Amino acid sequence: MKGTPLFLPGDRVGSWVGALAGSSTVFGPQVGSSGRPEFALVRDPSAVDLSLDARRASIRELWMPQTEILFRYRLDSQGATLEAVPRPEGSRVAFGIRPCEAAAIRRVTHVFRQGKHPDPLGLEAEGMAIVGLYCASPRRTCFCAQVGSPVDMAEEACDVLMTPISGGHVLHVMTDRGGSLAGVSGAAQATSDQVSAAGAVHAGLITAVPADGAIGALEATALEVWASEVFADQGARCIGCGVCTFLCPACHCFDILDERQGTGGARYRCWDSCQFDHFTLHASRHNPRHDQAARLRQRVLHKFLYMPQEFGVTGCTGCGRCAELCPVGISIRQVVADVRAAMAQEQGVTVA
Ligand code: SF4
Ligand code: SF4
Repeated sequence: MKGTPLFLPGDRVGSWVGALAGSSTVFGPQVGSSGRPEFALVRDPSAVDLSLDARRASIRELWMPQTEILFRYRLDSQGATLEAVPRPEGSRVAFGIRPCEAAAIRRVTHVFRQGKHPDPLGLEAEGMAIVGLYCASPRRTCFCAQVGSPVDMAEEACDVLMTPISGGHVLHVMTDRGGSLAGVSGAAQATSDQVSAAGAVHAGLITAVPADGAIGALEATALEVWASEVFADQGARCIGCGVCTFLCPACHCFDILDERQGTGGARYRCWDSCQFDHFTLHASRHNPRHDQAARLRQRVLHKFLYMPQEFGVTGCTGCGRCAELCPVGISIRQVVADVRAAMAQEQGVTVA
């Protein structure tokens, strides 16, 4: 693990969050108003609880709210008058998110940066500092080590990484921004024993999520996998609810809509899902993704074929949320594994 190692006792986490909240907007895991764990704006630093599992709330909320007004307008005899809606200002810190989630947030910016006209709203995520929290153990559906390495993801995306060990956390400071964040933590230099203990936690997770079932990027052309029966089989089970996309930290599809109210209105951005039947519905009623098999194929290939081809990274970091919470138990890890196995049986197609 790269970065300067420090040690922060467990009872100092709250005061660190408080110090960060003095100069930044901080988001962290806490019990929400519904009584469920969620990743939300920190109003009370003592409410941040790193033991909470906030997987039922998407981390995408931190940089792209589910619904967001972009501007308002008024119509009169002179035409339309636009009223700007202020964007969030100041520095933001995501505190205590997992390396897979952090990597997903960073990878999405590839999409918004490409082309002649980068999307400044999509790139707002880049400005968010990340204090990552390494997992002591995986959940049932986690497969981060099969699409890469949680250590590499932490190094790719976190400004500071916290690793839980006995008595507190080892902090690895990996960027200048992370140095500023850790500078108000009160952490001291870690001892060699503490660094070793953190290393054992890193290795332990990788062992617990076996890397030998690697399912990285599909090395094929779209045509070679397009007709795979795996998509038809799994798509027949999919009910198109969109849960997988709304909980995925790497999904980022949105819609832009105008809502008129009397002589004015608003243009807003809201989440959308490639798993919805109307996502690609044309005005003519033609739908190029006319069934769930085509929609499932799009989601899988976007993450495991198109993004690797365009940006050199998978659009999935193996957090396992989609498989854990899909109402019919569809696992993207299993779909990709099955596609790879089917390809391996076809002569002349290489599966890496
Ligand atoms: S596709 Fe599933 S496992 Fe991969 S990052 Fe998204 S939610 Fe996590
Ligand atoms: S969560 Fe499952 S059923 Fe719902 S759209 Fe995703 S794959 Fe289909």
